[in-house]
Amino acid sequence: MNILLNLNEGKFPIKINDSYDPSFIEEVHIIDLVIVDINIEKPSQGIIYAKGAIDLSYVSECSSCSKSITNRVNIKTDIEIQDISMSLNKRYTSKDVHFQDLTQFEIKDFIKEEIYLNIPNINFCEDNLCNKENLDKNDDLIQPFKKIRDLIK
Ligand SMILES: [Zn+2]
Repeated sequence: MNILLNLNEGKFPIKINDSYDPSFIEEVHIIDLVIVDINIEKPSQGIIYAKGAIDLSYVSECSSCSKSITNRVNIKTDIEIQDISMSLNKRYTSKDVHFQDLTQFEIKDFIKEEIYLNIPNINFCEDNLCNKENLDKNDDLIQPFKKIRDLIK
């Protein structure tokens, strides 16, 4: 079910409180439904925020021993939404920004981007015997895509 929202008109806040079949997210092996609880707010004309949480579980391999592990993440979302036509030199904001056509806003594209940008690409199992010493858990390694969003601001 795809519902396109026109964020240029209508009533705000828009509450999105729904569970999504994860089949539209291909790069992450998600198990069960993606639970979305997000409010889209428009505090003044031309300013739109999406705030809330995205809850999911996914399967990955331990980065050290390759054991299959299930990870649960709760992504806290606080993002500004701007129209895709916004010119680069006008893109100034203190928040992270998601760009999309505001007249045909697709919530699944937003959810997908939030998941790709926020789930770690390095996970470790809980096994005491697993040797994690050769990998530093620094933020750059754990969330490499965060950097990409910083670059496109
Ligand atoms: Zn391991």
